[in-house]
Amino acid sequence: MPRQRIPGLKDIKRTDLSAMSRGALEELTWDLHELARTLANRAGEDSTTSSRPPSSDNPYRRDTKSEQSSDRSDRDDDAGGGGSAPGGNASGGNPGPKPAGKRPGTKGFWRRLPIMVSGEVLHAPKACDACNAVFGSTVAQSRHVSAHLSFELTRGDMNLHVAATKHCYLAIRCDCGHETIARPATGLCSHVEGRRRDLQMSERCLVGPVLATFIAALSLRFRLSRVKIAEFLVDWLGVELGVATIERCIHEFGLASEPVVEQLIEEVRAAKIVHLDETPWYQKATLLWLWVAVTATTIVYRIGSRKHCELAALVGDAFLGWLVTDGYGAYRDHPRRQRCLAHLIRKARALAEGHYGAGSGFGRDLVRDLRRLIERVHDGDDPAAIKRLTARIKWNCQCNRPEIDTKVRGLAGEILNDWDAVIAFVADPELPPTNNDAERALRHAVISRRISFGTRSNEGSRFYAAALSVIDTCRKRGTDPWAYACALVTAARANTPLPTIPAHIAA
Ligand SMILES: [Zn+2]
Repeated sequence: MPRQRIPGLKDIKRTDLSAMSRGALEELTWDLHELARTLANRAGEDSTTSSRPPSSDNPYRRDTKSEQSSDRSDRDDDAGGGGSAPGGNASGGNPGPKPAGKRPGTKGFWRRLPIMVSGEVLHAPKACDACNAVFGSTVAQSRHVSAHLSFELTRGDMNLHVAATKHCYLAIRCDCGHETIARPATGLCSHVEGRRRDLQMSERCLVGPVLATFIAALSLRFRLSRVKIAEFLVDWLGVELGVATIERCIHEFGLASEPVVEQLIEEVRAAKIVHLDETPWYQKATLLWLWVAVTATTIVYRIGSRKHCELAALVGDAFLGWLVTDGYGAYRDHPRRQRCLAHLIRKARALAEGHYGAGSGFGRDLVRDLRRLIERVHDGDDPAAIKRLTARIKWNCQCNRPEIDTKVRGLAGEILNDWDAVIAFVADPELPPTNNDAERALRHAVISRRISFGTRSNEGSRFYAAALSVIDTCRKRGTDPWAYACALVTAARANTPLPTIPAHIAA
């Protein structure tokens, strides 16, 4: 770090400069110039100009990046005047990236090996459509009407087994003369304007519910790309599936999860304490936000803009409980709120470890006092001692409010302006002093975003958020997410009522 290379950076006062000789001044100025040049170069680096990964690029500047590289000659002139508004390129004439997938008319791939069928399942109608007579087990007059093959995964003790089964559908002629035909059920459907084929869930599917859930788990939980999942299935289970089929399985789980999530949102709105957080998310190179709401038993994700309405979609306008949040402005108008102290401690540490003169001392005190406050409230210490401690934090902030350095002034002002939310947990011991629950919930999605660069369509974003909500809520409640997911997909294909996630089992 250059911080260590320049000794005395911390200690220079203006009066010291006037006492220095010309040579010493020249030496100091040159050192500072070198430092400034190194830092400026490093601040301007990104994935296109250094060995940093693209995932480390600033999300706000990504939109303007392609524009800048096309007219690089102009950039030299206004190198200092960067920071154009996010999404500034949206109205430009750029047609955008090509759509994913093969171009129309490109030759496709076909199955290389025939499917080895290991069994046959007969689906006969249960009763006559015309007279409701129940068909017995002795079927006299039946004929095969339709059939399809289906791969299904069996989870045994310490083994996974995939088998292909032929599902045959029968027609039975009743004594009354009417012929009733059994057909695979069709369930939920997702319609997208202008799409050639909608996502229609059906029992007539090449991939059975357990294998479909397994594929969704590989994608959503283990963060494998569609292509990697295809490779995995061929290499380890000998199952040949196309990327589109794999995509379909993942989306089926997301589609089936959406009605469940509506119910989860109701539970969030009725909760006493809700943790909220948000992180950048890309949807086909557009910058969006992934929101999360965490309660004691429920986790709900949502991908949308960073506006207040997205917040209302999660917790509603009439939310009466406590919100635990960071300092982001959209949360500010909620009256019952706990500010995340971990954020403030991190900011105070930045002051303590940076070159802020007296402000560094303020940072050190703040880190110590805020940590002590969390400990004392947690241990249930003497209220008088806690009151003295909060008074000291407040006084310390008031003293540093007129500080010249904007960062020091900013942090002191931030704490004072939001004082009630900073110390809400002192009065209510049930309130957590940090927003770690929400931040932990976002970790998984943040790593996914770094691998996959987000989602590609509105539908994909909705499905991703819904599926993640179901998986994480199951995990939070101590139920097997995949057994539930499998029941969900089965019900959504068969058009039967969707199961609800079991309530929390107390440990
Ligand atoms: Zn009949």
